[in-house]
Amino acid sequence: MTTFWMAYLTALSFASGLCVGSFLNVCILRIPAGQSIVRPRSRCPACGEWIAWYDNLPVLSYLLLQGKCRHCRGLISPRYPLIELLTGLLFLAVWNRYGFTAQTPLYWVAISGLIFGSVVDLDHFILPDRVTLGGIASGLVFSALVPSLQGELVWSGALVRSAVGALVGAGILYAVAVAGRWWLKQDAMGLGDVKLLGAIGAWLGVQAVLFTLVVSSAIGALFGVILIAIDGLKWKSRIPFGPFIAGASVVWMLGGDHAWNWYLTWIQGGQ
Ligand SMILES: [Zn+2]
Repeated sequence: MTTFWMAYLTALSFASGLCVGSFLNVCILRIPAGQSIVRPRSRCPACGEWIAWYDNLPVLSYLLLQGKCRHCRGLISPRYPLIELLTGLLFLAVWNRYGFTAQTPLYWVAISGLIFGSVVDLDHFILPDRVTLGGIASGLVFSALVPSLQGELVWSGALVRSAVGALVGAGILYAVAVAGRWWLKQDAMGLGDVKLLGAIGAWLGVQAVLFTLVVSSAIGALFGVILIAIDGLKWKSRIPFGPFIAGASVVWMLGGDHAWNWYLTWIQGGQ
Protein backbone atom coordinates (compact mmCIF):
# COMPACT_ATOMS: atom_id res chain seq x y z
CA MET A 1 0.00 0.00 0.00
CA THR A 2 1.27 3.40 -0.89
CA THR A 3 1.16 6.24 1.59
CA PHE A 4 -1.46 7.95 -0.56
CA TRP A 5 -3.87 5.03 -0.34
CA MET A 6 -3.36 4.65 3.38
CA ALA A 7 -4.07 8.36 3.90
CA TYR A 8 -7.12 8.08 1.65
CA LEU A 9 -8.54 5.07 3.55
CA THR A 10 -7.84 6.74 6.90
CA ALA A 11 -9.77 9.84 5.81
CA LEU A 12 -12.51 7.62 4.39
CA SER A 13 -13.01 5.76 7.68
CA PHE A 14 -13.25 9.07 9.57
CA ALA A 15 -15.76 10.42 7.02
CA SER A 16 -17.78 7.18 7.18
CA GLY A 17 -17.93 7.55 10.96
CA LEU A 18 -19.17 11.15 10.63
CA CYS A 19 -21.97 10.01 8.28
CA VAL A 20 -22.92 7.04 10.47
CA GLY A 21 -22.96 9.42 13.46
CA SER A 22 -25.38 11.65 11.56
CA PHE A 23 -27.62 8.63 10.93
CA LEU A 24 -27.34 7.66 14.62
CA ASN A 25 -28.67 11.12 15.55
CA VAL A 26 -31.78 10.38 13.48
CA CYS A 27 -32.16 6.91 15.08
CA ILE A 28 -31.72 8.32 18.61
CA LEU A 29 -34.58 10.80 18.10
CA ARG A 30 -36.96 8.66 16.10
CA ILE A 31 -36.67 4.99 17.17
CA PRO A 32 -37.72 5.58 20.82
CA ALA A 33 -40.65 7.68 19.49
CA GLY A 34 -41.68 4.85 17.16
CA GLN A 35 -41.07 6.91 13.99
CA SER A 36 -39.57 5.84 10.66
CA ILE A 37 -35.82 6.43 10.34
CA VAL A 38 -36.07 6.60 6.54
CA ARG A 39 -38.77 9.20 5.92
CA PRO A 40 -39.50 12.05 6.12
CA ARG A 41 -36.39 14.24 5.90
CA SER A 42 -35.36 16.08 9.06
CA ARG A 43 -37.06 19.29 10.15
CA CYS A 44 -35.89 22.04 12.48
CA PRO A 45 -37.43 21.20 15.89
CA ALA A 46 -37.95 24.95 16.54
CA CYS A 47 -39.63 26.22 13.35
CA GLY A 48 -40.53 22.95 11.58
CA GLU A 49 -38.80 24.00 8.32
CA TRP A 50 -37.28 21.18 6.20
CA ILE A 51 -33.50 20.95 6.49
CA ALA A 52 -31.74 21.01 3.09
CA TRP A 53 -28.98 18.46 2.42
CA TYR A 54 -26.29 21.17 2.43
CA ASP A 55 -27.41 22.19 5.93
CA ASN A 56 -27.32 18.56 7.09
CA LEU A 57 -23.65 17.70 6.47
CA PRO A 58 -22.08 16.11 9.57
CA VAL A 59 -20.23 18.63 11.80
CA LEU A 60 -19.48 20.92 8.81
CA SER A 61 -23.01 22.36 8.52
CA TYR A 62 -23.14 23.00 12.25
CA LEU A 63 -19.92 25.02 12.02
CA LEU A 64 -20.99 26.90 8.85
CA LEU A 65 -24.38 27.74 10.38
CA GLN A 66 -22.65 28.67 13.65
CA GLY A 67 -25.01 26.35 15.51
CA LYS A 68 -28.20 28.12 14.37
CA CYS A 69 -31.12 27.14 12.09
CA ARG A 70 -30.87 28.90 8.67
CA HIS A 71 -34.56 29.86 8.81
CA CYS A 72 -35.43 30.78 12.40
CA ARG A 73 -31.90 31.19 13.86
CA GLY A 74 -32.99 28.84 16.66
CA LEU A 75 -30.08 27.12 18.40
CA ILE A 76 -29.12 23.64 17.16
CA SER A 77 -28.10 21.33 19.99
CA PRO A 78 -24.29 20.81 20.05
CA ARG A 79 -25.13 17.18 20.81
CA TYR A 80 -25.58 16.46 17.09
CA PRO A 81 -22.07 17.44 15.93
CA LEU A 82 -20.57 15.93 19.11
CA ILE A 83 -22.14 12.52 18.41
CA GLU A 84 -20.98 12.76 14.77
CA LEU A 85 -17.44 13.67 15.85
CA LEU A 86 -17.33 10.91 18.47
CA THR A 87 -18.47 8.30 15.93
CA GLY A 88 -15.95 9.60 13.36
CA LEU A 89 -13.04 9.46 15.83
CA LEU A 90 -13.95 5.97 17.07
CA PHE A 91 -14.26 4.66 13.47
CA LEU A 92 -10.83 6.15 12.82
CA ALA A 93 -9.37 4.54 15.96
CA VAL A 94 -10.77 1.10 15.01
CA TRP A 95 -9.29 1.41 11.51
CA ASN A 96 -5.92 2.45 12.93
CA ARG A 97 -5.80 -0.55 15.24
CA TYR A 98 -7.38 -3.29 13.10
CA GLY A 99 -6.84 -2.15 9.47
CA PHE A 100 -7.68 -4.77 6.85
CA THR A 101 -9.22 -7.38 9.15
CA ALA A 102 -12.79 -8.51 9.71
CA GLN A 103 -12.68 -6.76 13.09
CA THR A 104 -12.79 -3.31 11.51
CA PRO A 105 -16.31 -3.40 9.95
CA LEU A 106 -17.68 -5.54 12.80
CA TYR A 107 -16.39 -3.20 15.50
CA TRP A 108 -17.79 -0.26 13.54
CA VAL A 109 -21.20 -1.95 13.79
CA ALA A 110 -20.70 -2.69 17.51
CA ILE A 111 -19.62 0.90 18.29
CA SER A 112 -22.63 2.30 16.40
CA GLY A 113 -24.96 0.13 18.47
CA LEU A 114 -23.21 1.16 21.71
CA ILE A 115 -23.44 4.90 20.92
CA PHE A 116 -27.11 4.57 19.98
CA GLY A 117 -27.90 2.56 23.14
CA SER A 118 -25.93 4.90 25.43
CA VAL A 119 -27.63 8.09 24.27
CA VAL A 120 -31.10 6.48 24.40
CA ASP A 121 -30.23 5.33 27.94
CA LEU A 122 -29.23 8.91 28.89
CA ASP A 123 -32.46 10.29 27.39
CA HIS A 124 -35.00 7.68 28.47
CA PHE A 125 -33.34 5.50 31.14
CA ILE A 126 -33.85 2.46 28.95
CA LEU A 127 -31.45 0.33 26.91
CA PRO A 128 -33.29 -0.83 23.78
CA ASP A 129 -33.59 -4.62 23.36
CA ARG A 130 -32.45 -4.28 19.76
CA VAL A 131 -29.05 -3.21 21.12
CA THR A 132 -28.81 -5.61 24.07
CA LEU A 133 -30.61 -8.79 22.92
CA GLY A 134 -29.66 -7.95 19.31
CA GLY A 135 -26.07 -7.63 20.52
CA ILE A 136 -26.13 -11.07 22.18
CA ALA A 137 -27.59 -12.72 19.05
CA SER A 138 -25.26 -10.91 16.60
CA GLY A 139 -22.25 -11.59 18.85
CA LEU A 140 -22.93 -15.34 18.75
CA VAL A 141 -23.50 -15.32 14.95
CA PHE A 142 -20.46 -13.17 14.09
CA SER A 143 -18.20 -15.18 16.41
CA ALA A 144 -19.16 -18.39 14.56
CA LEU A 145 -18.71 -16.69 11.15
CA VAL A 146 -15.46 -14.87 12.08
CA PRO A 147 -13.68 -17.00 14.75
CA SER A 148 -10.79 -14.47 14.95
CA LEU A 149 -13.25 -12.19 16.80
CA GLN A 150 -12.72 -14.55 19.77
CA GLY A 151 -9.08 -15.28 18.99
CA GLU A 152 -10.02 -18.74 17.68
CA LEU A 153 -9.39 -20.55 14.41
CA VAL A 154 -12.44 -22.84 14.40
CA TRP A 155 -16.06 -21.70 14.42
CA SER A 156 -17.16 -24.07 17.20
CA GLY A 157 -14.46 -22.89 19.61
CA ALA A 158 -15.36 -19.26 18.93
CA LEU A 159 -19.06 -19.94 19.44
CA VAL A 160 -18.37 -21.55 22.82
CA ARG A 161 -16.22 -18.58 23.91
CA SER A 162 -18.96 -16.20 22.79
CA ALA A 163 -21.69 -18.12 24.65
CA VAL A 164 -19.56 -18.31 27.82
CA GLY A 165 -18.88 -14.58 27.54
CA ALA A 166 -22.61 -13.84 27.24
CA LEU A 167 -23.50 -16.08 30.19
CA VAL A 168 -20.77 -14.71 32.46
CA GLY A 169 -21.54 -11.10 31.49
CA ALA A 170 -25.28 -11.36 32.03
CA GLY A 171 -24.84 -13.73 35.00
CA ILE A 172 -22.57 -11.42 37.04
CA LEU A 173 -24.82 -8.37 36.66
CA TYR A 174 -27.95 -10.44 37.23
CA ALA A 175 -26.48 -11.58 40.55
CA VAL A 176 -25.69 -7.92 41.37
CA ALA A 177 -29.29 -6.98 40.48
CA VAL A 178 -30.78 -9.72 42.70
CA ALA A 179 -28.44 -8.91 45.60
CA GLY A 180 -29.15 -5.18 45.22
CA ARG A 181 -32.91 -5.71 45.31
CA TRP A 182 -32.60 -7.90 48.39
CA TRP A 183 -30.23 -5.56 50.22
CA LEU A 184 -31.55 -2.12 49.20
CA LYS A 185 -35.21 -3.20 48.86
CA GLN A 186 -35.32 -1.45 45.47
CA ASP A 187 -34.08 -1.98 41.94
CA ALA A 188 -30.42 -0.97 41.96
CA MET A 189 -29.55 -2.36 38.55
CA GLY A 190 -31.72 -2.44 35.42
CA LEU A 191 -32.17 -5.61 33.39
CA GLY A 192 -31.00 -3.57 30.38
CA ASP A 193 -27.51 -3.35 31.93
CA VAL A 194 -27.58 -7.13 32.56
CA LYS A 195 -28.39 -7.80 28.88
CA LEU A 196 -25.84 -5.21 27.69
CA LEU A 197 -22.94 -6.85 29.54
CA GLY A 198 -24.17 -10.17 28.10
CA ALA A 199 -23.91 -8.67 24.61
CA ILE A 200 -20.37 -7.42 25.33
CA GLY A 201 -19.44 -10.93 26.47
CA ALA A 202 -20.93 -12.43 23.30
CA TRP A 203 -18.89 -10.05 21.11
CA LEU A 204 -15.62 -9.76 23.06
CA GLY A 205 -15.39 -12.73 25.47
CA VAL A 206 -15.00 -13.24 29.22
CA GLN A 207 -11.84 -11.15 29.74
CA ALA A 208 -13.59 -8.15 28.18
CA VAL A 209 -16.53 -8.68 30.55
CA LEU A 210 -14.25 -8.54 33.61
CA PHE A 211 -12.35 -5.52 32.28
CA THR A 212 -15.61 -3.72 31.43
CA LEU A 213 -17.07 -4.47 34.86
CA VAL A 214 -14.03 -3.14 36.75
CA VAL A 215 -13.47 -0.05 34.59
CA SER A 216 -17.16 0.95 34.30
CA SER A 217 -17.73 0.56 38.06
CA ALA A 218 -14.64 2.63 38.86
CA ILE A 219 -15.56 5.42 36.44
CA GLY A 220 -19.23 5.26 37.46
CA ALA A 221 -18.34 5.55 41.16
CA LEU A 222 -15.93 8.43 40.51
CA PHE A 223 -18.60 10.18 38.43
CA GLY A 224 -21.18 9.66 41.20
CA VAL A 225 -18.84 11.12 43.84
CA ILE A 226 -18.14 14.17 41.64
CA LEU A 227 -21.89 14.71 41.08
CA ILE A 228 -22.57 14.45 44.82
CA ALA A 229 -19.74 16.91 45.53
CA ILE A 230 -20.78 19.58 43.03
CA ASP A 231 -24.53 19.07 42.94
CA GLY A 232 -25.50 17.68 46.35
CA LEU A 233 -27.00 14.77 44.39
CA LYS A 234 -28.58 12.20 46.68
CA TRP A 235 -26.95 8.80 46.32
CA LYS A 236 -30.29 7.24 45.42
CA SER A 237 -30.65 9.45 42.33
CA ARG A 238 -30.50 7.44 39.16
CA ILE A 239 -27.53 7.64 36.85
CA PRO A 240 -27.84 5.41 33.80
CA PHE A 241 -25.05 2.84 33.99
CA GLY A 242 -25.31 1.77 30.32
CA PRO A 243 -23.02 4.52 28.96
CA PHE A 244 -20.27 3.55 31.43
CA ILE A 245 -20.48 -0.11 30.42
CA ALA A 246 -20.49 0.85 26.74
CA GLY A 247 -17.54 3.24 27.16
CA ALA A 248 -15.42 0.71 29.04
CA SER A 249 -16.07 -1.96 26.38
CA VAL A 250 -14.96 0.45 23.64
CA VAL A 251 -11.74 1.10 25.59
CA TRP A 252 -11.22 -2.68 25.58
CA MET A 253 -11.72 -2.87 21.79
CA LEU A 254 -9.23 -0.07 21.22
CA GLY A 255 -6.42 -1.37 23.42
CA GLY A 256 -7.71 -2.33 26.86
CA ASP A 257 -6.83 -5.94 26.06
CA HIS A 258 -3.16 -4.91 25.69
CA ALA A 259 -3.28 -3.06 29.03
CA TRP A 260 -4.95 -6.07 30.67
CA ASN A 261 -2.31 -8.52 29.42
CA TRP A 262 0.46 -6.17 30.51
CA TYR A 263 -1.16 -5.96 33.97
CA LEU A 264 -1.44 -9.75 34.27
CA THR A 265 2.20 -10.17 33.28
CA TRP A 266 3.20 -7.49 35.79
CA ILE A 267 1.21 -9.14 38.61
CA GLN A 268 2.86 -12.47 37.88
CA GLY A 269 6.22 -10.74 38.23
CA GLY A 270 7.23 -11.44 34.65
CA GLN A 271 9.02 -9.07 32.25
ZN1 LIG B 1 -35.66 26.62 12.53
